[in-house]
Amino acid sequence: MVKGLERVEGERLGEFEIIARYFAPLATDKAALGLRDDAAVLVISEGYELIATCDTLIEGVHFLSDDPPDSIGYKALSVNLSDLAAKGARGHAYLLSLALPRETPHAWFEGFSSGLRELQEATGITLVGGDTTASPGPLTITITALGLVAHGHAVLRHGAKTGDRLYVSGTIGDACLGLRLLKDPALASAWDLLEEDMAFLIDRYRRPKPRTELVIPIRNFAQGAIDVSDGLVGDVEKLARVSHVGAVVEAARVPFSSAAQKALRREPQLLETLLTAGDDYELVAAVPEASAPAFEAEAQAKGASVTMIGRIAGPSGDVRVLRPDGEPLALGRKGFTHF
Ligand code: ADP
Ligand code: MG
Repeated sequence: MVKGLERVEGERLGEFEIIARYFAPLATDKAALGLRDDAAVLVISEGYELIATCDTLIEGVHFLSDDPPDSIGYKALSVNLSDLAAKGARGHAYLLSLALPRETPHAWFEGFSSGLRELQEATGITLVGGDTTASPGPLTITITALGLVAHGHAVLRHGAKTGDRLYVSGTIGDACLGLRLLKDPALASAWDLLEEDMAFLIDRYRRPKPRTELVIPIRNFAQGAIDVSDGLVGDVEKLARVSHVGAVVEAARVPFSSAAQKALRREPQLLETLLTAGDDYELVAAVPEASAPAFEAEAQAKGASVTMIGRIAGPSGDVRVLRPDGEPLALGRKGFTHF
């Protein structure tokens, strides 16, 4: 709890007090000018390119009203760092736009800013500006993140080539199971989950870890990469389409957490859901065969888990998912879309 919070509890903080109290302490780079100017002034080292990305989180769409505020802050920044990591870029600075109900309590800002702080400390990115407005609508958070990569070294979606291996980080489908559990806790017994499995899956929904350990391996060895936010199969398809190649994903190779495996054993039809649901924030990388051993070794050295799930192969834009018996898995949908 911040000093003096009790004193102002019940009073309404003005926009400038919110900025000074909760966000200025996160604006540690002098580029932010203490959040006391109209804009930030960033110095970019020579020989580097700025990678820019922006993601919005809306209450009821990307997080639930009763999610802890620190997890909301963590997730808002994490999903942006994930986009930067897919480009092989490190986070440098970010801007935060908040549209909030007027009655948002101090404790919410306290928790929200602590989630941001946790990731700032883990990754070195800092807050340099933003906007704060009252809104009659649901709580809406937009973060614009800026990353740095040496000139010409950004990894793009469109670089995958036929024959490349497809790798994915971490495990797939946990967040969608966590969300289902939050909406219907009775599923825990239906899926035979222990309390710790349930906590793990919910945490994967609320606090997706940005795979920043893969920034260097991806930059050094991947020809194409994408962050998996809207479903593994749909996002592999996006990568394939812009690269003018196809892809084959072997379902039996896709990494699932032990908690997800328990749910799968009880409900095998969940396989399609896990492969196509959103919110994973894992990274998919297309790595040439010759670079695969070095990619795996460097990922391992950084403590990141990567699993080969298939290959770049087949006609442009065509993604085939194979069942363990080698037959194609027919999918009703490939990923999440808002519209
Ligand atoms: P203006 O009215 O000129 O847009 P503001 O008064 O909104 O400026 O903002 C003053 C400063 O505070 C600016 O540097 C802005 O970037 C920063 N700021 C406003 N809201 C936020 C926020 N939610 N997070 C970080 N910085 C913020
Ligand atoms: Mg403003």
